Amino acid sequence: MTEAQGFWSVDLHEGAPSFFVCMACLNEVFWAKVPMPACPTCQEVSTYEAFTLDSIQDWGTEELIRKAQTASEEIPTLSPTEETTPAIVSTTSEDLSSKQP
Ligand SMILES: [Zn+2]
Repeated sequence: MTEAQGFWSVDLHEGAPSFFVCMACLNEVFWAKVPMPACPTCQEVSTYEAFTLDSIQDWGTEELIRKAQTASEEIPTLSPTEETTPAIVSTTSEDLSSKQP
């Protein structure tokens, strides 16, 4: 019987690593969630440790890095610094120019 793979979502802390690697097989990584009840790859009820994508790319296997990159696509918005992403001002250019003295 195949059961649908479920996940626990993980509460992320600001600035904390958010990629969770299966410590049993080191071959599965998920972003902001861990599989339940068991790892889909090794079927172990494992522990998961949080890493950053950078650190996974440092020590991970090619496969793990690829999975981490795939998982990173689930990240809704990559905005570590809000200052560098100014709010997009919608089409109000006419309004702006008319206000110029
Ligand atoms: Zn595993």
